[in-house]
Order: sequence, then structure tokens, then C-alpha cells
Amino acid sequence: MHKSGFVTILGNPNVGKSTLMNCLIGERLSIINPKAQTTRHRILGIVSDQDYQIIFSDTPGIISPHHDLHKSMMNSVKNSLEDADLLLYIVSSDKDDLDKNNFLQHINTLNIPIIILINKIDLINQDSVKGLINEWKEKCLNAVIIPISALKKFNIEKLNNQILSILPESPAYFPKDTLTDRSERFVVSEIIREKILDRYKQEIPYSVEVVVTKFHVKDKLIVIDATIFVERESQKGIILGKKGVAINAVGTVARKSMQNFFNKKIYLGLFVKVSKDWRNKKLQLKRFGYINS
Ligand code: GDP
Ligand code: MG
Repeated sequence: MHKSGFVTILGNPNVGKSTLMNCLIGERLSIINPKAQTTRHRILGIVSDQDYQIIFSDTPGIISPHHDLHKSMMNSVKNSLEDADLLLYIVSSDKDDLDKNNFLQHINTLNIPIIILINKIDLINQDSVKGLINEWKEKCLNAVIIPISALKKFNIEKLNNQILSILPESPAYFPKDTLTDRSERFVVSEIIREKILDRYKQEIPYSVEVVVTKFHVKDKLIVIDATIFVERESQKGIILGKKGVAINAVGTVARKSMQNFFNKKIYLGLFVKVSKDWRNKKLQLKRFGYINS
């Protein structure tokens, strides 16, 4: 019997989605198969074995529909749930996440199996873990709840088994050697965006977009140019930092990640441009790939 299906990963920023994906897929994400057929899912990674294929996809996050950007994000959340076989909903062991969580109403109306992952349990004690499990059980009656630590790789095996027990019987959707359907350019822009968010946290939360303008693969080297769009001059100043110190630091860590990912030397050119109020500009959003039509 072969099992296969789409597993959508959802959760607020910072709960540990990327860390979890790293431990579920790990090193295997280091090759890209550009020929993989595209679906409307944003595919994060595919894990295949002889008897199964799990297709992990994500969404741009859960944010209330405030800007146009947020609306299109929410649409893509809904789309990705429509034909998912399983939802992995990740929350942090941080109590705040339980109280502030505004996505719960949606979750309870869904018609697909749900696993709630309480992540970062390495930060709290056993009793707190039990307390959290009970609280989540009360809120989401139909969900399976698994406490994990993505960072310390705790309970990941259990999670894998639980996923496999839920996935439907189905042939594989992709060739077994497929790892992701994301383009190299997409990977590059995500890496840069991640490093920017890491470094500037509060100052530049959602006002940054990255567009890769050059991706030239040479023998032993990939030459990459990317433009970082911000909304205001003041943000441009923050991104650059004094004498460009901040942007250079971002470039250094981003380049290292890319070198690991592509297994080649990377030449990276970073540019910063102001694009006023891009969040509300549909055209820009289309160009950035947030909306399709
Ligand atoms: P994302 O925004 O949901 O993708 O979250 P990330 O995967 O980027 O993680 C956000 C932060 O939480 C990072 O600093 C991670 O190292 C940290 N983190 C993720 N998982 C765990 C965990 O299980 N335990 C602890 N202590 N920290 C974690
Ligand atoms: Mg992430």
C-alpha cells in the first residue's frame, strides 16, 4: 500500500515552521528539480520513501486582512487548505500564542484532519506541557496534539508516524527524486528575506520585499543580484546601516546560506530601493508573485 498527500503547515511567525521543515526534510532540500510540475500549493519540500510521499506546503502566514497584501495572503491560506489532506498547525509553548490566537475559529470549521504541534517544549517544564496540551484539547476537540521541539528534534519521529497514519492511500504525485518545485530564484529571495527579518526584527517587520534580478550559473560560481524593496527612505537607511555595515552583514550570512544550499561559490550583490506603499499596489504585488491574476 502506498500513501501520499499534501500536508499544509500553518502557524504564526516565529513559532518554528522553518526549523521544523529543516528537521523533517533537512539536507535533502539541497537539490532542486526545476521540472517538477507546479500545483497551486507552495511546495516547501517533498519527502519520499518506498511506501510514501509526503508533500509539505506552506502559506505566507496568518495575518489579519488589513492591507491588500494581507487579503491575498489570507486567500492563499484558504486555497492551500482546500485540498490539503492534513493540516499541521504549529504553536509555540509560549502561553501568549494560546491567548492571542485568532485563527482558532477557522481551524475548528475545517473538514480536514488537524495535528496541533506545540513547539519549543524544551523551554518549559513537564507540567506546563501537560497544561498546554489540555488547553489546546479543549479548544480544538478534533485535533491530535503533539508536543515537540523542532530545535532539539524531540518527538519528530512520532510526528512522522502520525502523519503517515493519516495520509490517504494514493500513488505518488511527483517523481520520487523530486525535492521541491521552488525555483532557485525563489529560494534565493527567501534566504535574503529571512536574514533581513532575523537582523532587523522590530524595525522592518513586513515592509520588505526581495526581487532577484540576476541569477547566472557559471562553472564553479553563481552570480546573484537582488533588490530589497522598502516603503520609506528611513527604512532604506536602517537596512543599509552606517556606511553599509548592516547590509553587508546581511549579505555575508545570506551568501553563506546560499553556498550551503547550492553547493557552489556565490557572488551576491544586494541593492536597496524605496517603493512607496508597495503593500497597496496591486501591480507590485503581482510582480512579487503574491497574486496571480
Ligand atoms: P518560523 O517563523 O515559524 O519559520 O520560525 P523559525 O523556524 O524561523 O524559528 C523562530 C525562532 O524560534 C528561531 O530562533 C528558532 O531557532 C527558534 N525555535 C524554533 N524551534 C524551536 C524549539 O523547538 N525550541 C526552541 N527553544 N527554539 C526554537
Ligand atoms: Mg520561517
